[in-house]
Amino acid sequence: MLSVRDLDVRYGEIRALRGVCMEVAQGEVVTLLGGNGAGKSTTLRAISGLLAPTGGDITFEGESIVGRRPEEIARMGIVHVPEGRQVIPGLSVLDNLRMGTSNGRMSRKDVPAGLERVFAVFPRLYDLRPRLGWSLSGGEQQMLVIGRAMMANPRLLMLDEPSLGLAPIVVREVFRIIGELHEAGLTVLLVEQNAYQALTVADRGYVVETGTVVVSGDARDLLDDDQMRSAYLGRT
Ligand code: ATP
Repeated sequence: MLSVRDLDVRYGEIRALRGVCMEVAQGEVVTLLGGNGAGKSTTLRAISGLLAPTGGDITFEGESIVGRRPEEIARMGIVHVPEGRQVIPGLSVLDNLRMGTSNGRMSRKDVPAGLERVFAVFPRLYDLRPRLGWSLSGGEQQMLVIGRAMMANPRLLMLDEPSLGLAPIVVREVFRIIGELHEAGLTVLLVEQNAYQALTVADRGYVVETGTVVVSGDARDLLDDDQMRSAYLGRT
């Protein structure tokens, strides 16, 4: 579905990505792991058209998407949930969810069914629907931005650090939900620092270091790999 080939991205003099290669097949959950500053968010920003690569190619369903505008890429079904939970503070939960349809992939008549799907995964959001964005807890905001992304009818959902800053019990809930979306057949590219939990829900993983993929493989193999365990999983 998604293929990233020899991707180079620079921020001025800084070479943030140096030849990143990765694939995501339909229906897979793929996780992109690595430490701070490794290049994970940059990879997602380049895929969604927010950054222009200086080299390499990105194809989605066989078509190159390099050079296309972010709105066009979103309309193709690549929905990016950036780090930092961008809930619109002055809008209700319900209106935040409705905003998700602004990429134009959901017609007005499909909105009630879309909301129903979101509330089936996140019953808590149903109870919270009149509440304003600013009044939600961190975990509730994370649920809301994932729910809003579902309203965009994604073909590929890209989540950047959805567990960041959440209490352990809420982190478990977020990963449980990613597992549910996977079971429902959604394709997910998940950036995480929480490598162990990410590999638990993923089919495959890539580890990025200083802008290059250094390890890749089946999630189960990566979880069992001694070097992975000591370097990234914090387990021996
Ligand atoms: P983190 O987990 O800390 O978010 P990351 O793996 O997502 O890290 P990136 O944010 O992709 O890393 O950053 C990759 C590199 O690019 C880092 O060296 C970072 O300092 C640099 N970088 C990121 N954004 C910018 C920017 N706007 N301007 C200049 N350099 C940047």
